[in-house]
Amino acid sequence: MPTVSDRLGRPLRNLRISVTDKCNLRCAYCMPEEEYVWLPRKDILDFEEIARLVDAFVRVGVDKVRLTGGEPLMRRDLDQLVGMIAAKGAIRDLALTTNGLLLAEQARALKDAGLHRVTVSLDTLKPDRFRALTRRDGHDKVLAGIEAAADAGFRGTKIDTVVMRGINDDELVELIRFAQRVDAEVRFIEYMDVGGATRWSMKDVVSRAEMLATIEKALGKATPLEEHSSAPAERFLLADGTVFGVIASTTAPFCRTCDRSRLTADGTWFACLYASRGMDLRTPLRAGVSVEMIADLMTARWRQRDDRGAEVRLAAAERGALAGAEALKSDPHLEMHTRGG
Ligand code: SAM
Repeated sequence: MPTVSDRLGRPLRNLRISVTDKCNLRCAYCMPEEEYVWLPRKDILDFEEIARLVDAFVRVGVDKVRLTGGEPLMRRDLDQLVGMIAAKGAIRDLALTTNGLLLAEQARALKDAGLHRVTVSLDTLKPDRFRALTRRDGHDKVLAGIEAAADAGFRGTKIDTVVMRGINDDELVELIRFAQRVDAEVRFIEYMDVGGATRWSMKDVVSRAEMLATIEKALGKATPLEEHSSAPAERFLLADGTVFGVIASTTAPFCRTCDRSRLTADGTWFACLYASRGMDLRTPLRAGVSVEMIADLMTARWRQRDDRGAEVRLAAAERGALAGAEALKSDPHLEMHTRGG
């Protein structure tokens, strides 16, 4: 497929598809409010519609797809969508990001349907802390889900941990050891000032430098691995052969190599996680516009892309939450749980 580049020469390769804005957790860094405005049900794309849009994205250059949400495993029969996307030869990497609560019951079906890889979000190894951070029970289910993924045959599983000061920054070493035990790789994500993080403050961000200092103090030198990819995580090797990652999206953004875009469950396409507006693909799709013509619309939009959202945020003199709760209610598309993270 011909590669389309944006204004900064970046191709479009990665597509994150949010299949639902609903979530069964209420993580403090993502959904701290009591009430939310959900996307209208009639606007949620069905699997055929999502598959058609994937066909159009493939024409623009996408060859990696990640299913996300909200919580993607809350979308009924997700394995059917996995099967539909896995059948497309052009998609060489099909992954899922989940909080793991429903993974134990679905891992086998997802593997059988053709899912390649799983990333499980897990911020703590302590059940009480999990309850406080997510406002829900189910820590044991998440751990069972990670185990079930391995039993179902998934390899290269990742564990994503958002690190917050005074909340879970004392668990980095334990999380590395845990990931090693379950044959996964942990990636520590800096707390980001994305939509939804209404309580965000720079003082709660644990920087990559701080994380590395803590880890090296306990486990010895962490050697950076030389890698040439657009993946956001920098990976480090410990003396015993363990590898872990750090995603320094807040203090050292990687906009210059960002080949990612995001499709919400209602077919709104965002060229940047921080973009205030997205492109409505649902309307042309439901009007019967052909896949070829939708690909042309995408191409024209991508050629205009000059977003560097995280870098712009970094340069801001006074940095606080990106959007307040009222702004998020008036446009739920601004929410991280709608955009899919
Ligand atoms: N429910 C799924 C899950 O928990 O993985 C998928 C959606 S969730 C929005 C995707 C990822 O975004 C998760 O790993 C979550 O930890 C991350 N995330 C959400 N808010 C964040 C924030 N303020 N800073 C950094 N990462 C965040």
